[in-house]
Amino acid sequence: MPEVRQQVSGAAMSSMKAVVFKGKDRIGVEEVPKPRPRAGEAVIRITTTTICGTDVHIVRGEYPVRPGLILGHEPVGVIDALGAGLESLYEIGERVIVGAITPCGQCFYCLNGSPSQCGGALGGWKFGNTINGAWAEYLLVPDAKANLAPIPRGLSDEDVVLCPDIFSTGLSGAESGGIRVGDSVAVFAQGPIGLCATLGAKLKGASLIVAVDTMPERLVMARRFGATVTLDAAADDPVQEIKRLTDGRGVDVAIEALGRQETFENALRAIRPGGTLSSLGVYSGKLVAPYEAFYAGLGDQKIVTTLCPGGKERMRRLMTMVEHRRVDLAPLVTHHFALDDIETAFDLFSHQRDGVLKVALHPHVSSSQIDAPSHTGAVVVPGANR
Ligand SMILES: [Zn+2]
Ligand SMILES: [Zn+2]
Repeated sequence: MPEVRQQVSGAAMSSMKAVVFKGKDRIGVEEVPKPRPRAGEAVIRITTTTICGTDVHIVRGEYPVRPGLILGHEPVGVIDALGAGLESLYEIGERVIVGAITPCGQCFYCLNGSPSQCGGALGGWKFGNTINGAWAEYLLVPDAKANLAPIPRGLSDEDVVLCPDIFSTGLSGAESGGIRVGDSVAVFAQGPIGLCATLGAKLKGASLIVAVDTMPERLVMARRFGATVTLDAAADDPVQEIKRLTDGRGVDVAIEALGRQETFENALRAIRPGGTLSSLGVYSGKLVAPYEAFYAGLGDQKIVTTLCPGGKERMRRLMTMVEHRRVDLAPLVTHHFALDDIETAFDLFSHQRDGVLKVALHPHVSSSQIDAPSHTGAVVVPGANR
């Protein structure tokens, strides 16, 4: 019966698999409508995405999003459909990434130099926050003209999957901190973002770069990303050690990359008078600045915060750093999973098991196509070739 078959294939064409937030501690793969682009929007077929620490906060109910939302904000893919007005700018089949933050480029905040706050506080962060995200076979990209960033020839998905958020955010910690050549810098916590902040300190020309964490394997990775000294915060008081390394003064810039009272306070105590605390962490509850660490409010210190810079020009810049081999982000991608195995992937990532740094999720690959889920390089990813 041809009519029935047509209906079935028609339904398959207009629906897709996606990971949906169902309420605190509950996510699941569901069949949902495939998005269609309106004017100025694009749909990309996701080939690779990843799980972020922020997604863990969301799933644990620590950052509110609406149930039914598709999570994920780190997309790598291929242009599948273009809305009106984009035909002369992009081509179907073109490989692109999109920043985790998708500014409109037109509003008060965008035009006043705060594109991450597009439309209002945190407003640039739309994917997996206020609109459907990247843990899906297809993703609708708003304001595509400002946000679709073509991937340079020769780069794999793995090379660029950390550009939408992790590299952009980590590097921004060093940029917002105003690091100058010869500065001393301490980076508190060496998760993926902290490691990229360490890398950012190196790129900005810091001399002494102190990486602080409690996991030995992360401190080893910190050396690869530019740390000149590593401190195990479980064994020693990092603030005391940092003072000792800087003639008792403290560092010029400290970067906080975890979002806890303890690391915030340590970062504040670790900077010299007149120094800068550059904060990247996502905090909850109340944050306290103790009077002596704050020099009673008279220490000429600066505290700056940054939400991941996005937009296609930022993405282009970051990808050129990979293209010209100034940075290599691929070692941070330690595991690969099919999207169907999201629960296993999420469990591994959120509990930081098996030396995990970042997991790559592949929506168009089946579990069986990924030989060994914990082995980098064993994955076959159709459409994700260089
Ligand atoms: Zn993120
Ligand atoms: Zn805007």
